Amino acid sequence: MPVCETSCFLLPLRRVARNRSSEIEGRLSGSKPLRLIHSNMSALSGQVQTVLGPIEPDQLGVTMTHEHLTMTFECCYSTPAPGDETVAQAPIQMKNLFWLNQNPYSSHENLLLVQETDAVREELHEYRKAGGRTIVENTTQGISRDLPCLRQLAIDTGVHIIGGAGFYVDATHSEATRKMTVEKLTDIIVSEVLHGADGTGIRCGVIGEIGCSWPLTDSEVKVLKATAHAQTKLGCPAIIHPGRNPAAPFEIVRILQEAGGDISKTVMSHLDRTIFDNGELLEFANLGSYLEYDLFGTEMLNYALYLDVDMPSDSQRVKTLAFLVQEGYEDNILIAHDVHTKNRLTKYGGHGYSHILKNIVPKMLVRGISQTHIDKILIDNPKRWLTFK
Ligand SMILES: [Zn+2]
Repeated sequence: MPVCETSCFLLPLRRVARNRSSEIEGRLSGSKPLRLIHSNMSALSGQVQTVLGPIEPDQLGVTMTHEHLTMTFECCYSTPAPGDETVAQAPIQMKNLFWLNQNPYSSHENLLLVQETDAVREELHEYRKAGGRTIVENTTQGISRDLPCLRQLAIDTGVHIIGGAGFYVDATHSEATRKMTVEKLTDIIVSEVLHGADGTGIRCGVIGEIGCSWPLTDSEVKVLKATAHAQTKLGCPAIIHPGRNPAAPFEIVRILQEAGGDISKTVMSHLDRTIFDNGELLEFANLGSYLEYDLFGTEMLNYALYLDVDMPSDSQRVKTLAFLVQEGYEDNILIAHDVHTKNRLTKYGGHGYSHILKNIVPKMLVRGISQTHIDKILIDNPKRWLTFK
């Protein structure tokens, strides 16, 4: 449990000039005692904060930067098509798997990843065997964040797990949240990083995923501003879930920038279902955020949450990564699976958390992305992003 009094929370927080990050990252020393974090946020400078405490960035290794190990997704339930009611209500079974993969949001049972901790634990062991070392578990308030569960999974499996501070999309905001000022929201986010979240002493190591709809709601704009303010105070990484429109990532970066956020330490998630035009993608890449392709393993004909678009295949995702590398953006790319429903787990015939390491990396090599570039995407870029300034 947090032992800090309010007074230390109000101490002036050290601000680090953006262009000094690499210099600071270059002179890291040994792990600092946890108690220092209560009295001085600079104790986190140069370190990465996992649910088990701060670690040295070099310990991260291969990292998936956008996953969920336990959550609920009922906020995005989608009514089944006429005639599909029976299969939608049936328990998940082999003969329904094709339907489920095409309609993952129309089965209530499928939205309860929270029920699968044992299966997830097994998958994390597999992930380690496949070479994975770290997972950013960016479940935020609104979709059943469970930090004690993450802590236990980290202890059981040895995988470094990093928890997420802040709030998911407006549809999950409570009335109390909607009424909060930017200052209050900022205090909550800062506290979740410095002292612990949800009444536990378990501290978050990133802000996000911060949920945004399209168009952005007033409450979401306040949370984005609070994210920028908290980031300024903490020098910490942030990760954003943009609304489903090509204009959304641009609008979010503008709001964050105007509120003083650090775009070079911010990840724009889900670009695979958001920006489709290569020219527009380069325009966005120029803004300087990390570019995340995090729906590897998801291939479907009709994307219920955004019917206007064709969900890309994994082959098309790899092609886009090769394009970005060719254009010189290899230092900005991050990848993941964003597992958030049961059907994505191997227990239910899904791809699991090791799909990228087992299947996508070989495909990347075939498509001309070098091992050096792959190491940047899986190790160096996550490390740079996750290290506190
Ligand atoms: Zn997510």
